[in-house]
Amino acid sequence: MSSAPQIPAPIVAPPGRSRRAGAAKTSPVRDLLALTERPEVISFAGGLPAPELFDLDGIRAAFDEALQAPGVLQYSTSEGSAALREEVARRYTADGLDTSASDLIITTGSQQGLGLLATSLVDPGDTILVEEPCYLAALQTFALAGARVVGVPYDGDALDLEALDRLASAHSAKFFYTVPTFQNPTGRTHDLVARKQIAEIALRRGLRIIEDEPYRQLRYSGDALPSLATLAPDHVLSLGSFSKVLAPGLRIGWIRTTPDIRPTATIAKQAADLHTSTIDQAAAARYLASGRGDLALDRIRSSYAERRDAMLSGLPSALPAGSTWSRPDGGMFVWARLPEAMDATQLLTKALAHDVAFVPGAPFFAGPADPRTLRLSFTTYAPDRIRTGLSRLGAASGAAG
Ligand code: PMP
Repeated sequence: MSSAPQIPAPIVAPPGRSRRAGAAKTSPVRDLLALTERPEVISFAGGLPAPELFDLDGIRAAFDEALQAPGVLQYSTSEGSAALREEVARRYTADGLDTSASDLIITTGSQQGLGLLATSLVDPGDTILVEEPCYLAALQTFALAGARVVGVPYDGDALDLEALDRLASAHSAKFFYTVPTFQNPTGRTHDLVARKQIAEIALRRGLRIIEDEPYRQLRYSGDALPSLATLAPDHVLSLGSFSKVLAPGLRIGWIRTTPDIRPTATIAKQAADLHTSTIDQAAAARYLASGRGDLALDRIRSSYAERRDAMLSGLPSALPAGSTWSRPDGGMFVWARLPEAMDATQLLTKALAHDVAFVPGAPFFAGPADPRTLRLSFTTYAPDRIRTGLSRLGAASGAAG
């Protein structure tokens, strides 16, 4: 028998969702991508690290050790574990960016860092600038914060810095969000000259920058570049993550904050979830201190380099003649563009019929989308499987044979 109270009609419906929630895009390719979960599909769609490269023994040992220490199952501070922050700070300093533990707030993945910075910096209606195309879940976060998101276009493979300068001044933008190294979705990297110019614009215009660097350590060729925070320390907030170099399931990331934003971001963190899992932070700190992380990262880098090369050498016979694609020095993604009049979403439907998948590029655009673009991830499978997937794609696109 139902225990619902007897209320006379008419029943009043509850109020609807917020305007901000309504503004967040759901991806039109979501339904198609649900089909990529069939086991027979070789999916270049997700940005999944290779699970066989996780250092399971090292991580297990770190959890075992961490569980012997008092307090690891207790509540802890919102800024995060001192031991973990010191490990992260040491790595920044070794990388040329002087950092102390107090500059860092540990977050539940760098995705949470993005949300905390949006909460700390954006009022509904504020304009923010992003690279066009941009990391999809950043677009969602900024839309949920009520931001007006304006895309800064690329000119070929380089960001249009004159447009950045012009848009920053025209909109009094709250910040410019960038993934400067091996961007998601394009794999593009801002070279040294571009970095210096972005920093120069930030200093001259008083433009704040959020640099999101989950792929920085996944470099397979070319020289390391200074982070934007090195070039404009008071204007740049940096986000980092262990998702791509250790394991995404740990959900450990961080904000390297500037002193003006630190108190607000700490309150935002407290309000979001009090703190990131104490035991996960303790295990991550122990794992890093054990020195195994560098060995694991070397293994990841050399495997991913082979996978990138397998993808780059297979693409000419997988995509239709006249297609172009990026040749990234690192990260996880290749960005391709189909010839005139072709549409990547239509190609995905055909690809799925051949049990292979990728992500169409359209959802990654803040403004008008380029329907010819697509993103392929090369990290999930070994080279042989990549070659099989690409020959299926060649059959689907009509490029093969
Ligand atoms: N930023 C970028 C550019 C990403 O590609 C991702 C993950 N795909 C994230 C942030 C979020 O990573 P996480 O929350 O796992 O640290």
